[in-house]
Amino acid sequence: MAKPKKPDNRPSWDDYFMEITELVSRRSTCLRRQVGAVIVKGKRILTTGYNGAPSGLKHCSEVGCLREKLNIPSGERQELCRASHAEQNAIIQAAQHGVRINEATIYSTHFPCVTCAKMIINAGIKKIIYQQGYPDQLSKELLQEARIELIKMTPAKLTLAADEPKESG
Ligand SMILES: [Zn+2]
Ligand SMILES: [Zn+2]
Repeated sequence: MAKPKKPDNRPSWDDYFMEITELVSRRSTCLRRQVGAVIVKGKRILTTGYNGAPSGLKHCSEVGCLREKLNIPSGERQELCRASHAEQNAIIQAAQHGVRINEATIYSTHFPCVTCAKMIINAGIKKIIYQQGYPDQLSKELLQEARIELIKMTPAKLTLAADEPKESG
């Protein structure tokens, strides 16, 4: 019997994980930007995270975000926001469930900020695959010094994203 032919539109692993990362980001409640992160090892998803307020607390989308109110530029004064970042939440989820993420790869819709970068380094993650840049020079320097592999992916032809109108609110 002939082997079934591989469909031409089958996504690469990177596209596959990045598309899932995009989907994860859509759960975000941040008013500034929606970020998703997925930690992968051996072609398996270990954990996921998106930026939002800590569990059980009110989201910026409900009570407003101080960074938004004060018009703070992107990349600055992150401590003023209630939300914890996607990458942090993915790492924390690993701790909660006792999942070893040493030597893993993190897919993220955005380049990590410096706080996330430090956590990624100490979590033993070796590779970051991201789509969009982020204005944080120190983050880049630390990651390079730690020899973390940084790969920028051009936004994939995301099949999920597009069309649907964004929920307002
Ligand atoms: Zn906020
Ligand atoms: Zn961050």
